[in-house]
Amino acid sequence: MRLSRIIRAKPHKEMNMHYKTLSRSVAPVILLAIGCSHILPATSSQRTFVSPPSAPTSSYTTDADFPGGNIIADCNEGDTIYLRPDQRDSSEWWFYWNFRVRGAAGRTLKFQFTGNDPIGTQGPAVSTDGGRTWSWLGPQAAQDSAFSYTFGRDSGEVQFCFSIPYLEANLQEFLGRYADSPHLAVRELCRTGKGRSVERIHAGRIDAEPNYRVLLTARHHACEMIASYSLEGLLEAVLADTDIGRWFQNNVEVLAVPFVDKDGVEDGDQGKSRRPHDHNRDYLGKSIYPSVEAVRQFVPRWSKGKLMVALDLHCPHIRGKYNEVIYIVGSPNQAAWQQQKEFAAILESVCKGSLPYRAESSLPFGTAWNTAANYGQYKSCSRWAEEQPGVRLATTIEIPYANVGAAVVTADNARAFGRDLAGALRNYLENSDK
Ligand SMILES: [Zn+2]
Repeated sequence: MRLSRIIRAKPHKEMNMHYKTLSRSVAPVILLAIGCSHILPATSSQRTFVSPPSAPTSSYTTDADFPGGNIIADCNEGDTIYLRPDQRDSSEWWFYWNFRVRGAAGRTLKFQFTGNDPIGTQGPAVSTDGGRTWSWLGPQAAQDSAFSYTFGRDSGEVQFCFSIPYLEANLQEFLGRYADSPHLAVRELCRTGKGRSVERIHAGRIDAEPNYRVLLTARHHACEMIASYSLEGLLEAVLADTDIGRWFQNNVEVLAVPFVDKDGVEDGDQGKSRRPHDHNRDYLGKSIYPSVEAVRQFVPRWSKGKLMVALDLHCPHIRGKYNEVIYIVGSPNQAAWQQQKEFAAILESVCKGSLPYRAESSLPFGTAWNTAANYGQYKSCSRWAEEQPGVRLATTIEIPYANVGAAVVTADNARAFGRDLAGALRNYLENSDK
């Protein structure tokens, strides 16, 4: 049966915010589809599906027209919807998706992904309160690249995501709690290519010259959202009125760039392996991304020779070896690798009760994906940071999306791991003085 399309006016309030996202595709469409014989090209994320008359309500909508949204819903067959992650400018297949369903109260829908399986080890993350809180549907909920969900009788909208989203709104909520703190200053690093503000957060000893400086970065790869919860936890420890917080406030100025690829985070891009190269391969020659260029300009001016540590927080791949443990990515430079091993041992010793961490999980250079061939002609943030004057430890840390061994990742325990990172940083910096 042929598919018919009706162009529909866009919803009011989100128009400005999502203009750039939507302008990349065609206007949202209502798709009246029975049967799946026509797979459509990647055009719009918003689809209204009409299902058989026996169904509880006549139509429901899937869309990704909100910050961080990403989906291509191709068509439906009864109450099975066929969809896939929107790859946009990624040069290799990646697995990020984040969509909502409205008007499906009382139904059970099956979401069938086509192509590679983009469902993580805990099934989809789900939110029924507009993205404020999330839970995992669990591994048993997903099978053969599909999951089913029964919408409550009074369900308005339900959001599903590959993992637990963290967007600018989350950061603003966090920073808002410290609006009166003398230990926090939020500035603008630069504007993105699309005009968004990239935050530069200063925390700790910001009223006088510190003993040490520490650089924290996250979201070089837009979709790597769990890293943001750990960054938040780390900052929380630095700002806290605790023994460790006071130590940071007396000794360390932390500079955090929480969203290096801000446009990608807000637009819901994969961000990994962008063409011609992604943000974490932009640290050699002339940077093509304004935020990377700004980091490279600002950090050397700011550090004044006191930048001791640079941590770049990431998330790995979906599942399997190296992707279900927290690990440090080994440097090819032997002296740097020695420092990474030292930090790993300290982190293991302080990491109790957040997420499991073992120093032996570190991935030495030359192992698995961590090879010269992977970086090719490019340079990552950590390799660049390692070369900055005075830096002792520069490392990428990979934090899984859904499980660390037997532990299921949540926003809270990812934050708690960030607080452990702060404890490890303190011990490492104190040791480095000896
Ligand atoms: Zn990454």
